[in-house]
Amino acid sequence: MKITAAVVFEKNGPFSVEQVDLTDPRADELLVEVVASGMCATDLHGRDGYFPTMPYPAVFGHEGAGVVRAIGSGVTKFKPGDHIVMSYPWCGECPNCRTQRQSYCLSVRKLKMGGTRADGSTLHSKNGEPVFGAFFQQSSFGTYAIANERFAVKVRKDAPLEILGPLACGGHTGAGAVLNVMKPSPGDSFAVFGVGSVGLSAMMAAKIAGCDPIIAVDVHEHRLALARELGATHTFNHTGRTDIVAEIRKLTGHGVRFSLETSALPAVLREAIEALMPAGTCVLLGSARAGTEASFEMPFLQRGRTVRGVVQGDSVPETFIPQLVDYVVAGKFPLDRLITFYDLADINRAAAEQASGATIKPVLRMPH
Ligand SMILES: [Zn+2]
Ligand SMILES: [Zn+2]
Repeated sequence: MKITAAVVFEKNGPFSVEQVDLTDPRADELLVEVVASGMCATDLHGRDGYFPTMPYPAVFGHEGAGVVRAIGSGVTKFKPGDHIVMSYPWCGECPNCRTQRQSYCLSVRKLKMGGTRADGSTLHSKNGEPVFGAFFQQSSFGTYAIANERFAVKVRKDAPLEILGPLACGGHTGAGAVLNVMKPSPGDSFAVFGVGSVGLSAMMAAKIAGCDPIIAVDVHEHRLALARELGATHTFNHTGRTDIVAEIRKLTGHGVRFSLETSALPAVLREAIEALMPAGTCVLLGSARAGTEASFEMPFLQRGRTVRGVVQGDSVPETFIPQLVDYVVAGKFPLDRLITFYDLADINRAAAEQASGATIKPVLRMPH
């Protein structure tokens, strides 16, 4: 079928809104009318050629929310009319997938950023030529998408569908790092370094868990103001300061039980580690480019501190995303406060305003 989608024709090129052809759903696939799609830094990394496996032209987008319009012959879990969000793919067969560690799937690069379905076929074409993407096995920057039923998650119909897409990546990445990995008890201290969409999602989850204090560090005053509205008990503007760790120690006595690093800057990771109390845990979410190195003093780990990376919030989307949707509906996870809507036609402005930090979470509304 003919759809409208944002195509990137070459590495570092702009998004171009085009008519393209979308293939029909296979036996295990869904045709999804995309209502809206979040935009995540990973989409811009794709546009800019960070993934050597990704051919061009390509359609990106991996935080899609929409309505199932048709199902393949073997689909049993979904029917037309279902509201869904599309989450990240995994192979289901590797040692990590077999042991509920699917966000660390050993084939994940190929499935997320290989440009095609697992068998090498493309989802889109134009004038008979292949258009790549199959980004996270969805490519949600278009009016319709093909989703594999294994990675789609049904959501309740009374939830505001057009804001739910970001739960599929940034939202569960932040919230999952707290609720699935840290698992804080009420009263545990928490500090987040960088309050973009992932950091704010984590902070909202820390509030749900009852963390206190909740400390937010960023360089943008408007983000820190929002962090305070969403539950930060203390905020620090990092701009021009070198005493952030000292301030956190002064506030907490021994440092924090949990810290979260979202900036991908080595100096900030070091601060997030040094802010920990003994036996505290620092989770690294920031996505640094290959070759980036960080340092900290080895004795720091001898006092039981843990530093670990987390992907996709250790989330099993089928259960975790509906849990987050319940929090959204209950008003405990006010995702709408992070979102700025753009029409698909304005995708390049959305990308620029995400990159500058002016917009925390762009969500593209699809023309229908
Ligand atoms: Zn796997
Ligand atoms: Zn993402």
